[in-house]
Amino acid sequence: MKYISVFLPIPVYNDFYYSCEDDSIKQGCRVKVPFGKTSRTGFAVKVFDKKPATKYELKKIKSIIDNPPVLTPELLRLSKEISRYYVVPRGMALAAMLSASLTPLKRKPKFEILPADTNIKSQYKLNQDQSAAVDAIKKEISLKGSGKGSGKGSGNGSGKKSARCLLHGVTYSGKTEVYMRVMSELIDDGKQVLVLVPEIAITAQLVDRLKERFGKTAVGVWHSKIARGKKMKYMEFLSKGKMDILIGPRSAVFVPFKKLGAIIIEEEQDPLYKQDNAPSYDARWVAEKRCEITGAGLILSSATPRLETIYRAKRGDFKYMPLSQRVDKSKSPKIELVDMKREHSEREKSGILSRRIIEKLENNLTSNRQVILFINRRGYTSSVICSDCGKALKCGKCNMPYAYHAGKAQMECHWCGRKRPVPLKCPYCSGETYNFRGSGTQKVEEVLYKFYPEAKIARMDLDTISKKGSVEKIFNDFKNGKYDILIGTSLLTKGWDFSNVGLVGVINSDLGLMSPDFRAAEKIYLTLMQVTGRTGRGKYRGEVVVQTYNPNHYALKMMLSDNPNIFYNKELNVRKTAGFPPFRDIIGITVSGKNQSKVSSGIDLCKKYILKRDNNTDVLGPAKAAIYKLRGNYRKCLLLKVGKDNTGIKKILKGMILKYKTININIDVDPQTMP
Ligand code: ADP
Ligand code: ZN
Repeated sequence: MKYISVFLPIPVYNDFYYSCEDDSIKQGCRVKVPFGKTSRTGFAVKVFDKKPATKYELKKIKSIIDNPPVLTPELLRLSKEISRYYVVPRGMALAAMLSASLTPLKRKPKFEILPADTNIKSQYKLNQDQSAAVDAIKKEISLKGSGKGSGKGSGNGSGKKSARCLLHGVTYSGKTEVYMRVMSELIDDGKQVLVLVPEIAITAQLVDRLKERFGKTAVGVWHSKIARGKKMKYMEFLSKGKMDILIGPRSAVFVPFKKLGAIIIEEEQDPLYKQDNAPSYDARWVAEKRCEITGAGLILSSATPRLETIYRAKRGDFKYMPLSQRVDKSKSPKIELVDMKREHSEREKSGILSRRIIEKLENNLTSNRQVILFINRRGYTSSVICSDCGKALKCGKCNMPYAYHAGKAQMECHWCGRKRPVPLKCPYCSGETYNFRGSGTQKVEEVLYKFYPEAKIARMDLDTISKKGSVEKIFNDFKNGKYDILIGTSLLTKGWDFSNVGLVGVINSDLGLMSPDFRAAEKIYLTLMQVTGRTGRGKYRGEVVVQTYNPNHYALKMMLSDNPNIFYNKELNVRKTAGFPPFRDIIGITVSGKNQSKVSSGIDLCKKYILKRDNNTDVLGPAKAAIYKLRGNYRKCLLLKVGKDNTGIKKILKGMILKYKTININIDVDPQTMP
């Protein structure tokens, strides 16, 4: 007889003991257990030979679901860390980890053993920056990697940090080539590599390159919708060490490996790495933890790293490796700002497109170059911006911009709840017209068709990409010259390689700049820098025209500089003064429910609970969530600014959840968007 400790995927923090007659039970198995009047699937995290000290009679489990276990010791340990850091019950963390990776089949599928792969060496001679980076990463990994590849944490207990590197260079500076060289050596050494990407649908180019270099069968391509049989095959190959590389989106961070040598995170700034719904883990955080546990190296790669990552690199948390120029030494594009306030005042009938963009557009079309028009639309709540002075109307009490609610045609402060009609005259300049939101992709397409009925125009946004494979098709067709103009939203920012794009036009650069999100300036700066990366890869220098109502805002002005540190330093100062990340961490708390007054009293109770127990935490709010009523539920939230060591506050939050069991409380640690 064995005894096991089991976590269940329910909102309860503790584990449950059961007995098990089958002595073959192992740690990491899933088990069917009786629970109350029903039975449930749980995760066996520990196995004991002796009955644990408890006065209760232990119930027997009903059955063992998988043997061998589906959860390696490493993943079990990871679930514990996730549970602690994100304040989620361990059973829920385990369930999320597994649902991301697998739902085991009853019978094992049969599959053939694949022939060994070739690891083709690249022909390029690396430039100076590249070879310096390759050497530094190799040194870092061999110095700090465990080398033992053991599942049990070698990084954490000893206090030794695993190797962490940041590759920072504009698109085309040779970052991919750098980490592929490192991968090649790791693989020769018998190690495996996980490559995380924000979104697999737009990663075809990278997948092709990896397959070309390391062999088709060495590379597994993961995403949540691949067939179960294929997932099983990958899992089996990876855990037996028969596959060298897995590339996939955030859920791939939970796939078990035999000998993980490194995790590479492409486009490390991408918000898609954070899961929206509970458990709202951040794959970047999980990857770092996993590397600490296994001794694998962590390599971040980006043209535009997050401010928080840059800050950590400056403090020595990451080995910082800048790549200073494009491999073909081509010049970065010429960027100019167009002041849309002036545009409106100087033109009788001005539209979405400024005269400057129209002029450049025509030049490029006549010389057979392609054009990308980018529309910034990233789920910001819209604010009220005066078309004359460009300022956003703010709540006098909170000094935060009002959010505009089109349905009720009024402004509302999300922080104090104050509501106001839109004033007839702008309080700053007495202007009488306002901008509430930018123009959508469809509108731009319509305008273009009217101007250029001959042009072949493609549009890429959520409406056009819902079909599988359509993103790739649009990108490929554009690359092959089937279209003259490509209009689109944030998908366009991701690293696709176009060689004939002469102009990138940004229609509404500052949408969201005034939103009540402290990361607004950073998000806009990074997004704009990424779109500029889509031009200028060919023989001629690319051009970028950015339309804005805020030509004097630092996030826009600093785009004109070649040196991103000017922006990063400025923004760091802003954050320091305001006490936001990376100087303090933040935690969002949302209470939701059908009954408005219960939601209000619930969030008040939470605030009181926290203030009474912790005086290192600043509590902002309660405020209504940006979308106050969602699917019939009212939502109110708090924003906590906590100290860098936040184990204390997390214990308090756990206590709060346990105390207020009847209140529906959601905790978002390190939220990437404001509630
Ligand atoms: P990034 O990842 O920074 O966008 P890549 O590594 O993809 O840059 O390099 C851009 C292009 O230049 C790729 O087609 C790559 O094959 C090529 N390349 C990379 N390094 C070199 C080099 N040292 N010499 C010549 N070509 C290179
Ligand atoms: Zn207010």
